[in-house]
Amino acid sequence: MPDIDGLPLREWTPRPQVRTAVTAVDTPAAPCIDVHNHLGRWLSDDGDWLIADVDSLIRMMDACQVEAIVNLDGMWGDELSENLVRYDVAHPGRFLTFCQLDWMLLAEPDGEARLIASLEDSARRGARGLKIWKSLGLQARDPAGELVLPDDPAVVRVVRRAGELGLPVLIHSADPIAFFEPLDADNERLDELRGSPDWWFGDPSVHPTFDRLWEAHAALVLACPGTAFIGAHVGNLAEDLDRVSALMDAASNYHVDIGGRMAELGRQPRRFARLVAEHPDRVLFGTDIYPADEEQYRLHFRFLESDDESFEYAPGSPIPPQGRWAVSAAALPAELLPALYRGNAARVLGIAPAETPAEALVETPAETPAS
Ligand SMILES: [Zn+2]
Repeated sequence: MPDIDGLPLREWTPRPQVRTAVTAVDTPAAPCIDVHNHLGRWLSDDGDWLIADVDSLIRMMDACQVEAIVNLDGMWGDELSENLVRYDVAHPGRFLTFCQLDWMLLAEPDGEARLIASLEDSARRGARGLKIWKSLGLQARDPAGELVLPDDPAVVRVVRRAGELGLPVLIHSADPIAFFEPLDADNERLDELRGSPDWWFGDPSVHPTFDRLWEAHAALVLACPGTAFIGAHVGNLAEDLDRVSALMDAASNYHVDIGGRMAELGRQPRRFARLVAEHPDRVLFGTDIYPADEEQYRLHFRFLESDDESFEYAPGSPIPPQGRWAVSAAALPAELLPALYRGNAARVLGIAPAETPAEALVETPAETPAS
């Protein structure tokens, strides 16, 4: 018997021996819009574009029937314009770039006015929405040095202005829960936090609690009924779909994307399918996989459409990055797919219906002669 008592956890990479069916889903049941992705420069290590060759990205999108990708990396000012020129203007209908706001300006006495001016400038330049990053609630401070939470009155006024300008708001608050839990043997995201220690916010003397932040997120949504929201990563609470569902019930302006949360949804696929069935007009397709690739799009189609069980959500990773488990697919009913893949996003983003022949085929009801 080999000695395994001293085997460190990081070297334990068990290979499941279960044999299960693999359903290939090469193209989605309807053309899709990926509402959560990153194509810009601010997230890249070297300051270069995350996509070096836009034409080859478009060939991949065509092969996977990805009609359009939302680029959340527009930032503001000239950086926004450069994103717009490279993507939206060069390839009409294929990309929608969102702007961001520099929430650190809230530390200045005239911060709110400058944020509103920035938003108006971004709308004029052609931004298609506003992305709010989770620095709001964790980093941005007011002139007195206090953290600014998402339901701060100044934030509410800025976000209402986004609604008046016709900009939907995709917002990431707090999420995931494990980043706010003690960093110890019980933490389900220990592998991920070991690799990215900056992502841990679990010291209550420094950061608000997860619940405080999520409640502020919900309060912001309720305070801005004229603004369309997309709660990132399944409403920033993929671990608790009952609470997400309750916010959708309370706020008809609240939508969610599924970006980056196959791991969470795939450990409760039946609860997820129920969420979609109960809110067929509110759940939006997104991946948050960057650089976007064919394998991951097809894995998402398989996750949504097949009934495959127990497969890897991050194929090729020796240790699953978001938790040591496998996922099972959601087997969503075919009639729910066109809205999830495209229709809901098109409505929220202001895209005309049926821009492509394939979409027209999907959405045109069959004419049956009266008998
Ligand atoms: Zn993202």
